[in-house]
Amino acid sequence: MKDAKGATTRTITLQHARIWTADPARPFAHSITLRDGNIVALDAKPEGEVIDLGGRWVGPAFIDAHLHLTLGAATLAQCDLSGCSSRAQFESRISAHARALDDAGEHESWLVGFGWNEADWRADAPTRAWLAAAGTRPAVAWRMDQHSCVVNDAALAKLDTTPIEGGEIEREHGIFREQAAWKRVIPAIPTPSLAAKRASLAKACAHLHALGIASVGSMEYLCDIRDVFVPARNALTLRVHATVLDRAWPLDQPPELPQESSDFFRIVGLKSFADGTLGSRTAWMLDPYRDQPNTCGLSMEHTLRGELTAWMRCVQSLGLSPSIHAIGDRAARELLDAMDACADSPAPRFEHAQTLHPRDIPRLAGRFASMQPLHKADDARQALARLGHARIERFFAMRALLAHGARLAFGSDWPIVSPDPLLGIKAAVTGLDLDGRPFATAHSISTREALVAYTRTAAEMLDLPSGILAPGRAGDLVVLDRSPLEIDWTREMPMIDATIVAGRTTYDRASILPSF
Ligand SMILES: [Zn+2]
Repeated sequence: MKDAKGATTRTITLQHARIWTADPARPFAHSITLRDGNIVALDAKPEGEVIDLGGRWVGPAFIDAHLHLTLGAATLAQCDLSGCSSRAQFESRISAHARALDDAGEHESWLVGFGWNEADWRADAPTRAWLAAAGTRPAVAWRMDQHSCVVNDAALAKLDTTPIEGGEIEREHGIFREQAAWKRVIPAIPTPSLAAKRASLAKACAHLHALGIASVGSMEYLCDIRDVFVPARNALTLRVHATVLDRAWPLDQPPELPQESSDFFRIVGLKSFADGTLGSRTAWMLDPYRDQPNTCGLSMEHTLRGELTAWMRCVQSLGLSPSIHAIGDRAARELLDAMDACADSPAPRFEHAQTLHPRDIPRLAGRFASMQPLHKADDARQALARLGHARIERFFAMRALLAHGARLAFGSDWPIVSPDPLLGIKAAVTGLDLDGRPFATAHSISTREALVAYTRTAAEMLDLPSGILAPGRAGDLVVLDRSPLEIDWTREMPMIDATIVAGRTTYDRASILPSF
């Protein structure tokens, strides 16, 4: 069918569904009608093509409020070492990946692995000997937090191993940490070609659609925004609202940002780091680390230079949202002080908010806290050692934040952890850590609250046209095989049956939708 302007129009009605809308004004429905990519009606007379969903559950498609799409896309072609629970398993994955590269005729290219965590095998970090199966090709394996890596002999031969400030190198074991990993190893790894980056972006979009995701808040460097996202902006199937990671610009000379945008790509913010991470004891805490009492961590960048408020005002003057990484309770307090001194709009984003002094929690009322529940499940295994029992009440205080009116938006930080929103919901709802043990469950929230954080509030934070199912909103839907609101998450998980973005099918496991 064509409309008056000659554009193709398409109307479909999904019926016999259990629809949860995330819209407090009308939380439930049984049918939904989409036209030209938007929602036009709920529970109305069926129009256009009618699809019977046989009682399946439908909600707003998930939004990952904080990930790194370009980095995540690159990992799809790398060796996944996450969840390795022994040296044997680590080595067999390296060996399988080396064989796959050989089979693809890539005999010289680097083998890049990611995602290992020594907490998974409860012993020391891997050494270069663990990479023997890579053979004569250079190989590097990144720890899950990307703050350290191990390399093999062939890679070591190409690397400068003289001492570096802010970094550590253990040559005999092939280990590089912090600045040594970033400034010595990363530049030595050949960067993928533009064509390869564009191809891996398309794969990443498909990967995320299979997880029920229609939109992301992505942290990106300007070079990738210019070279990859802007040219692809009219062909993307995933809505990408980007936050610019480049931050070495003087406050009186803001960066030139590309103006091109589309319904699927837009720059919405700029990023700054107030501190580091709990795992590496660089998160800036009010009190010393329990397992390293001589340090409270570090402040960084604009916060270190006392420029955080000025930087935030500058970002807001560009019409963009300041997005600030703050993990330690001291960094959080500095950030809240700066927020008090800034305008409310464009709204600043508090990224991570992993530890908060109880006195500061009410200060987040009405503010966006962008959290990653799967980080809790992961960091739980180190939190007690780093913080001690008394401070666990400050760790991922999701329940208290909601009770005080904070606007919780969820994401993953992919590729640091899996981008699967169902794993994030499970972590937020059950409090189970990655070893399956309950941890700080007083902070757990309800399934409905977790769903809202992955849909409505994430959309509000990133200024997306989706997030709730209501007439006039974008037709971004996820179809699940069962209701996530009615299951015991410690025993079962729903399956993603289909994902629809702007009225088009982008994933259809169960072959329930026509290809439109
Ligand atoms: Zn991140």
